[in-house]
Amino acid sequence: MDLDDLYRDVIVDHNRRPRNFGRLVGANRSAEGNNPLCGDKLHVFLEMKDDIIRDIRFEGAGCAISTASASLMSEAVKGKSRADIVDLFGSVHRMLTQHDAEADAGLGKLAALSGVREFPMRVKCASLCWHTLNAALAGSAVPVSTE
Ligand code: ZN
Repeated sequence: MDLDDLYRDVIVDHNRRPRNFGRLVGANRSAEGNNPLCGDKLHVFLEMKDDIIRDIRFEGAGCAISTASASLMSEAVKGKSRADIVDLFGSVHRMLTQHDAEADAGLGKLAALSGVREFPMRVKCASLCWHTLNAALAGSAVPVSTE
């Protein structure tokens, strides 16, 4: 099995059985995001304590890439501080926009989305959850849009 197959399997699995899907009772931050180009919609809920994401859930409907990306993100950011997330988002953004094998290697399962960079329209699907997470962390009440 080559890397492309492995990555495809991770995306299919996280789309079919998204992790941390649903409402979060006890959320103290949330934000909505839209990707009008594809029709993806997300609502991200956070339980923050001492600047750490204690818990995260998301709801929404979208394409396989947006759902899998939100699911993978939810696993990757749980227990992380705001500063960790700034770093992680920097690495994810680099992975989605550049060919940088070194950046991919540090991302664990998130690297399953690296193939998306070949499809510029899909980069917005994959990054929607991260923009929505950032809006929730910033306490923004205005829905974010990839447009
Ligand atoms: Zn999409």
